[in-house]
Amino acid sequence: MRILVVEDEVRLSRHISSALMQAGHDPAVVHDGETALGEVEDKPFDLLVLDVGLPGIDGFEVLRRLRAKHLPHRVLILTARGELNDRVTGLQLGADDYLAKPFAMQELLARVRALGRRYAEEPEVTLRVGDLTLDLVQQEVHRNGRPIELSAREMTLLRVLMREPGRIFTRIELCERVWEREHEYDTKLVEVFIGRLRKKIGTPPLVHTVRHTGYTIREAS
Ligand code: CA
Repeated sequence: MRILVVEDEVRLSRHISSALMQAGHDPAVVHDGETALGEVEDKPFDLLVLDVGLPGIDGFEVLRRLRAKHLPHRVLILTARGELNDRVTGLQLGADDYLAKPFAMQELLARVRALGRRYAEEPEVTLRVGDLTLDLVQQEVHRNGRPIELSAREMTLLRVLMREPGRIFTRIELCERVWEREHEYDTKLVEVFIGRLRKKIGTPPLVHTVRHTGYTIREAS
């Protein structure tokens, strides 16, 4: 799932994000409510992991505004306050589930999984581009039946590309999506990993360079 993590504690947000990534999701992170509201209007997220205690507008207000705009995202509320009142407020405002801090990462992943199941219209299990397949559940890649071994980062990079075949991703975008670099963009790293992916995927090539722009994955025409 595409998940927006709204959490002002930077370390925790990275922790959550990498756990989600390892579980096969596509997380993005923001650290305040205003930014979160901007993001959800622009991009198709399936789920928000939303901290209540945020600088500026708090998580409840974010939720209130989301629902006022009839934005249909699933929302899992996180809060340090384990108070019954907060849970009730969150659920009344339209949160789908609630998790009190501190929590075990496994617990968060279980809740996310449950929310995914509850709302899945057509579960997306296998991504496909030509004869290349990526099984999101097993985390396995095959080309024409031949298994391809990828590192975790290579897998994430391929997954990002394969979710939107034909879409052109800039190097910076890939940096953000795969490495979550927020301040320094190491686009050389992207080039290196694209090179490795290409080598492992083999021919005919599926990952294409779009001059002066970035990369896309599609079947060669
Ligand atoms: Ca907080």
